[in-house]
Amino acid sequence: MTHALDATRWLLFKGQELLVNSVDLDFPLAAHLQQFGITVEQQYHIGFFNDHAVYAVELAQEVSPPEGYHFQHLRSLLVAVNSDKFSLAGTASQVLEWAKSHRFCSRCGTATVPHPQGERALVCPSCQYSQYPRINPCVIVAITKADCILLARAQRFNRPMYSLLAGFVEAGETLEQAVEREVLEEVGIKVKNIRYFGSQAWPFPSNLMLGFTAEWAGGELVLQEEEIMDAQFFKHDELPEIPPKGSIAAQIIHATVTELAQKTR
Ligand SMILES: [Zn+2]
Repeated sequence: MTHALDATRWLLFKGQELLVNSVDLDFPLAAHLQQFGITVEQQYHIGFFNDHAVYAVELAQEVSPPEGYHFQHLRSLLVAVNSDKFSLAGTASQVLEWAKSHRFCSRCGTATVPHPQGERALVCPSCQYSQYPRINPCVIVAITKADCILLARAQRFNRPMYSLLAGFVEAGETLEQAVEREVLEEVGIKVKNIRYFGSQAWPFPSNLMLGFTAEWAGGELVLQEEEIMDAQFFKHDELPEIPPKGSIAAQIIHATVTELAQKTR
């Protein structure tokens, strides 16, 4: 008789880099932890993978990868592993980032402790204030005009890549207002028929991307130069380089140009 293998998965991070098997990018099991000589001081329950628990741990900076493993940046895992695995890794990275930056109560400065009933919260033992992981909502929008889609090259892109306009939602705004404001600020045009497309957790470091489509309603393109290097309405079948598959930007662009192609056929 063999003992059942402990199939608990361990997401071992150093900042935004995750330890993965170099062959199949799999996450280590409990047995590997012992093998690697890694002792865990603080772990966070993230969820389940094939019905087995998944925990996240922040490793010390000096830990080097054991043989057959390497540290891989979360961003490059987006296109390399399936969405279930990426979702676990993304959640783990956000939880660790939150835990690191909420070690003390933001009201009274006392050191926080894990929630006594296991909720994902850090609680102040002195004033009882609970701190939960914070998510930053961010709108991203595809704007169409006739058979064209608006794509912009942001100053922060290090490649000649064009994507959709996006920006954080501000306090007091509706999502639609955030779309209208961002578009007006970044490229100077007005939009109409704003429709929800879908969403994606974006753990860089902790955004929730809320996707929309809209139509041009007026105005000429006037770029906010600190943020936007170039923006143009591109014909649906003449697109520049766009973001890689796996991102919600790519999904919205693909759905939008497919629809434009059908309409104009
Ligand atoms: Zn407190």
